[in-house]
Amino acid sequence: MNYRELVTAMTEPEKVDTITLGAGGAAYPAAFALARAGQQVVMVDPKGVMSGNCLAEGCVPSKAVYEVAELYRRVTAAPMSRALGALTGPPDYAQVVAWKDQVQKDRYRQHDGELQAASANLRLVPGTGRLIDSHTVEVNTTGSAKRFQAAQIIIASGADVFVPPIPGAQLCVTSRDLFALEPTVTSLPARLAVIGGGYVGLEVACMLRALGSQVTVIEALPGLLAGMDPDFVTLLAAGIDPTISIQLSASVTAVTKGDGGGFTVHYRIGDADSTVDADLVLMAVGRRPVIPDGATELGLPRAGHGLAVDVSMQVPGYPHLYAPGDVNGRSMLFHSAVRQSLVAAHNILAGNRVVDRMDFDSVPATIFTAPQGAYVGLTRAKAAEQARQVVEAAYPMADDSRAQILGDTYGEIRLFCDAQSLRLVGGWVVGADAAQLIGQIGESVAAGLTAYDLARFADQHPTAAEGIGKAARTLVG
Ligand code: ADP
Repeated sequence: MNYRELVTAMTEPEKVDTITLGAGGAAYPAAFALARAGQQVVMVDPKGVMSGNCLAEGCVPSKAVYEVAELYRRVTAAPMSRALGALTGPPDYAQVVAWKDQVQKDRYRQHDGELQAASANLRLVPGTGRLIDSHTVEVNTTGSAKRFQAAQIIIASGADVFVPPIPGAQLCVTSRDLFALEPTVTSLPARLAVIGGGYVGLEVACMLRALGSQVTVIEALPGLLAGMDPDFVTLLAAGIDPTISIQLSASVTAVTKGDGGGFTVHYRIGDADSTVDADLVLMAVGRRPVIPDGATELGLPRAGHGLAVDVSMQVPGYPHLYAPGDVNGRSMLFHSAVRQSLVAAHNILAGNRVVDRMDFDSVPATIFTAPQGAYVGLTRAKAAEQARQVVEAAYPMADDSRAQILGDTYGEIRLFCDAQSLRLVGGWVVGADAAQLIGQIGESVAAGLTAYDLARFADQHPTAAEGIGKAARTLVG
């Protein structure tokens, strides 16, 4: 222990009700709720700002780029381009990045305002938190350290890009280089290679392809989007631009520098070695939970790469420790983290008794590819795995007025209902407005609605939501 650490350890810690490690989507909804209820709350985050990785390098900036790419793709696709006439050419990528930066700055400003306006009980302390014991956190900033003692600790340290130990991995960029504020990548690569066919890799592949890059995706597994329902993946993948080269069962062995500033990705399929040349290589093989220092020493239980949690968001065996969001690795999505955060807050306000529970089965997920794909709850594969008797109802986008208006008629809406009660247990959407539709389907799953309820609802015309009612009516007449 050095002198500074000794002084910190000897100084009386500041007592608060709840401290959060992290200030992302798993932390601040709880922090605000607890502070509003009168608790003294401290959020700790090395970024020194509220909002976490979603705004720093994830959902928001990637979707700002996606929307430009998607608009451009639509207006240049045959049906709409006939109405619009010739465009001058693809957007200037630097301007696309500038738009993304603008959206991020606006949201940071909004979050700052929200923090300023928050109750006097809530503070954000810049720094990295370390667990000293199950009630004490030490916050390290450059040059100083301070201790807090809290009745409850919300461990919401999120997740980070995982970079595997492949030779040459340091030559690759990650999603952070594309989507951080004022990112390092500001020009469109003529040739992009993407290592990883998960949702991040595929989203970037589709976006940059739409804007004009030649794209190759290299995936080690035999299929894309590992972990998702294979039939959903097959449907989605079949709609993706066939000029994107997708190499499956392809293990990357190395990335090397080529001539003239480019790179070569070396990969192996079976016994055959291949290469692809690229001007930019994106490493997108997944994200891993960030376990804060001290958690392992404390013996906090783990599940996979994350911290173990119950549906109460409590760490098993520690009723005053909560681990919502990406850090538990169960559903690494911002909106899931927000709900998990609120579950934690409600249980804290009940004196660490379980009055609220996380329902992981009704969290929707969207892959912002072209076409979009989205799903929620129990779909075909999971229902079969659990031996649940389900009936299916489908509606083809080809018949949908909104899809026809967009000139984008690929895909379907598919509902899964319990075979006896016709209670909706899940669904997927591929195609027009999938991200929006899955919200409505997810809410119906969460509310326990049946095909009868969906069939009776007057879905708006001409929106793609009409397909939900139409699909339900195939089951109930
Ligand atoms: P989630 O959606 O689960 O909140 P995010 O990754 O968006 O996840 O946010 C997690 C935040 O936690 C990030 O802003 C990160 O900087 C912060 N963080 C990571 N480790 C620590 C730590 N030890 N102490 C404080 N903050 C941390």
